[in-house]
Amino acid sequence: MATAPRSAPDAAMAQDIRRVYLDNNATTRIHPDALEAMLPYLGEHYGNPSSGHWFGRSVRARIEDAREQVAALIGAQPSEVFFCSGGTESDNAAIKGVAWNHPRDGKRQVITSAVDHPAVLNTVRYLSENGYRLSVVGVDKYGMADIGAVDAALDSATAVVSVMHANNEVGTIQPVREIAQRAKARGALVHTDAIQSAGKIPVDVNDIMVDLLSISAHKIHGPKGVGALYVRKGVKIHPLITGGSHERGMRPGTENVSGIIGFGKACEIARKNLVKDSIRIKSLRDELQKRILETIPSVRLNGHPEKRLPGTLNIGIEGVEGDALPIQCDMHGIALSTGSACSSGSPEPSYVLLAMGIPATVVRGLLRFSFGRENTFEDIGYVMERLPKIVSAVRSVPPL
Ligand SMILES: *Cc1c(COP(=O)(O)O)cnc(C)c1O
Repeated sequence: MATAPRSAPDAAMAQDIRRVYLDNNATTRIHPDALEAMLPYLGEHYGNPSSGHWFGRSVRARIEDAREQVAALIGAQPSEVFFCSGGTESDNAAIKGVAWNHPRDGKRQVITSAVDHPAVLNTVRYLSENGYRLSVVGVDKYGMADIGAVDAALDSATAVVSVMHANNEVGTIQPVREIAQRAKARGALVHTDAIQSAGKIPVDVNDIMVDLLSISAHKIHGPKGVGALYVRKGVKIHPLITGGSHERGMRPGTENVSGIIGFGKACEIARKNLVKDSIRIKSLRDELQKRILETIPSVRLNGHPEKRLPGTLNIGIEGVEGDALPIQCDMHGIALSTGSACSSGSPEPSYVLLAMGIPATVVRGLLRFSFGRENTFEDIGYVMERLPKIVSAVRSVPPL
């Protein structure tokens, strides 16, 4: 349970509340063009894409267009892209899919990093409770996975190495290519959760040398409940669920047609605007970072200073505890997160920051600002008008 706010915003500050959304790593607003592309497929185009008649065929064609759009964003062939219900399912399908494809041949080890998303961490934990060996490699103070530890853990029994491309809490970009080179040398497959990186920084499956890659639509201004798994041509995995022959048997079930079409459009928009948007978003992020570090005493930047997603800013605020800070921010209209969406609302310190070696006392006062395509410099002006006052108000209240 969240703790109750301990000080109300003063009367003057309570006026002129603006709503500023800075939680784009949790989810994004759908792009209007993606929404528009979807609508006919929730209405008049209701055919089942598996049907042979016109109603089905016309819908099937649009799914294949979307597959091309998704493939283009990550440098894949369309035939290597399989649609599913989102990032969590895609991570599960990749890791369990590899593990289950090696029932008896002795490939029993899975390797991941301590800062991977719960969709990965809880999947490998599940496997470790079911007869697989698990190695979780540590990270440095920036959240960067230890390549030496991956090297040390790798052996001929390793089925898959799964290390995320960019972290959702601190934005640190992992050395996936370097890890993949080492894994391949030992005959292991490589998966990466690219859910935070695809559409925000260049992602190319051949460049980072991965066999499997997960992406999700709602993190890149697409709809919720749809994602994809990239499976390199020739790589065999066991399907997560059984059923018909949809998605060539890899992911049975009648397709989320409108979701897939919106996802495709979001990928196309992200690809076309990648350079322009990432430069603009980074300049917003850098401006907020500079002003917070200059204005508010006893704060620290978490994550890698450079090798980081352009729109992620994780700030540690010393001398505050629990959820007082994000609750106060919310009362002032500023929507942000203390860590991952999955862990906010619980007073547990962030496992990502703990893995980075940041003391539990500091890890309690975290603010994660994450930018998206709608954010403006006015948003930053507003945050800087409110945040210093919020921080000193919260700091002046002694801990319960
Ligand atoms: C959001 C997220 C997920 C989960 O994706 P869903 O589509 O919400 O299931 C997995 N990994 C990372 C890094 C994420 O940010």
